Amino acid sequence: MAKETVEFKTEVKQLLDLVIHSLYSNKEIFLRELVSNASDAVDRARFESLTNSEILEGDSDWKIKISKDEKAGTITISDNGIGLDKETAVENLGTIARSGTKAFLEQLKAAGSTNNPEMIGQFGVGFYSSFMVADKVTVVSRKAKSQAIRWESTGDGSYTIEESTREKRGTDVTLHLKEDAKEYLNEWSLRGLVKKFSDYVEHPVVMDTEKEKGKIEEEVLNARKAIWLKNKSEVTEEEHNEFYKHIARDFTNPLKAIHFSAEGASEFKALVYIPSKAPFNMFDQDHKIGVHLYVKRIFIMDDCKKLLPDYLRFVKGVVDSSDLPLNVSREILQDTKEMEKIKKSLVNKVLSTLAEMKEKETDKYKQFFAEFGKILKEGVHFDYENKEKLLDLLMFESTHTDKDAMTSLSGYVDRMREEQKEIYYLTGESISELRTSPYLERFKTKSMEVLFMTDAVDEWILPDINEYKGKKLKAANRGDLAIDDESEKKAHAQKEKVFKELLTALQEKLPDVKEVKVSSRLTDSACCLVGDEHAPGAHMEKIYKAMGQDVPVQKSILEINPDHPLIVNLQIIHSKKGNEQKFADYAATLYDQALLLEGKKLKDPVGFIKRLNELLTSDSKSLL
Ligand code: ADP
Repeated sequence: MAKETVEFKTEVKQLLDLVIHSLYSNKEIFLRELVSNASDAVDRARFESLTNSEILEGDSDWKIKISKDEKAGTITISDNGIGLDKETAVENLGTIARSGTKAFLEQLKAAGSTNNPEMIGQFGVGFYSSFMVADKVTVVSRKAKSQAIRWESTGDGSYTIEESTREKRGTDVTLHLKEDAKEYLNEWSLRGLVKKFSDYVEHPVVMDTEKEKGKIEEEVLNARKAIWLKNKSEVTEEEHNEFYKHIARDFTNPLKAIHFSAEGASEFKALVYIPSKAPFNMFDQDHKIGVHLYVKRIFIMDDCKKLLPDYLRFVKGVVDSSDLPLNVSREILQDTKEMEKIKKSLVNKVLSTLAEMKEKETDKYKQFFAEFGKILKEGVHFDYENKEKLLDLLMFESTHTDKDAMTSLSGYVDRMREEQKEIYYLTGESISELRTSPYLERFKTKSMEVLFMTDAVDEWILPDINEYKGKKLKAANRGDLAIDDESEKKAHAQKEKVFKELLTALQEKLPDVKEVKVSSRLTDSACCLVGDEHAPGAHMEKIYKAMGQDVPVQKSILEINPDHPLIVNLQIIHSKKGNEQKFADYAATLYDQALLLEGKKLKDPVGFIKRLNELLTSDSKSLL
């Protein structure tokens, strides 16, 4: 293999640039990232060796070594982990595997957040953080039974890769330190960083130190604390924060730690966290499950899909089982009853912690819900067993909540008046659009609460919710609105009589409308479109369309407000002979208005503008 020079992918260049420039004040994290990578590589090798001892090549003294060469100005992080061959080096050190990277970088730029370390940190900068402190990075690595490789880059657009030699399996990452990073050549600053960032790494992180003059010894720098095995009360907040950042590769402290041990049916210890911020790629198809599985302190696997349902994918941490056999393959692990038990108890614990948080730490819970509510809601559809618990965790804005405040379903039910039978909701794209919706007019006069639902997932889970505490959920813009007041009922029937002919005439002029009715829901607006009780909402229709799917054509009902001057006017026009064209134009304009209010596109916008302009100039015509 001759030496090759390879260009970095565009997104790597962009990310490198961002990392170097905006994370500069956090540059010391390079050591955490490299030690974590080394630790992962050791985990992988150890796991593989459980079923294939050949890869050991006689070396199972798992460790990570930090060495420095003051003269050369370099630090090297070495491990005896899984190693890289040419293919994996090109794949992992020259590209960014995470999907959605491009979109994320564009989003950062658009939001003007390229200087926001937290945003970039949540991306997990990993290996590339080396370039904050080094102007050249050399990786020499060998996978068991493979050709060793040497990868090198100055981080400015390309890297080289060539054959090399390495006696043992593993990887050396050598950083040629920049002038302003030479401080890390100091033994005490390296010790400090390992203590601060990597104390929890399970494998020994060692360094050669001179205890007595002339006597060099390998010293273990980290405490290798499996903090999940400690008593809950013994773990400090500081320890939680650092452990979380190590395990989740996050920059920000977690919102909540959940530390518990299960006994009885299955024995395991768990230390999992709810992050404070949702990662940018939470909705990617290939998102990972954030809980790592250990068996008796030995790392078995990450992204363990059998440990947590997808809708709790934001939870990060560790589960350590003492029941599972150590030498299991991944396939077997995916299928044991034991895993089912662990999952069940973990889900219960996470949900009960959230419920407690909602009760006792309301502000914190709101912060959680704003970040992860959309994901949690998926559970209402997928986790039938826990549906009730999940419903209790949902929060919505409503006609009765202050700006940015939210209510739970039970809060809504508590406020319901006795005569109200159903829980009303309105779906749409934004709260501001919903707050001014004409569908709410009568609800407002009656001071009846309507929940606002603006997440795409809401319409999707509504059929699953169906009812809460025996109260059916009902769309404020669908079906008939029950009138419970006797005198109102009479007045309504009277108006239906008065407008009967107008309704029929409008119906004739508007073939796209299923029916024209006198509205009981409008007080200010002239008209609105109302869906059938079971038709997909306008918002859902938009989602279908965006996904390129056909939406079954559902004709809506046009409701008119009999008290509105426009309708009164229309009644007059209709009753006079010779106004055919005018009436047709008015009817069409009325329908278009209703479509616009519903947030729909007009079929014939040119015709609408023409008719509108005609109307707007009709006054001046009579004045002339
Ligand atoms: P991440 O660790 O988040 O996947 P990184 O950029 O830190 O991202 O690393 C990219 C990939 O490079 C890792 O997933 C791993 O496959 C590989 N890698 C990094 N460091 C090592 C190492 N010391 N030994 C083996 N593989 C490594």
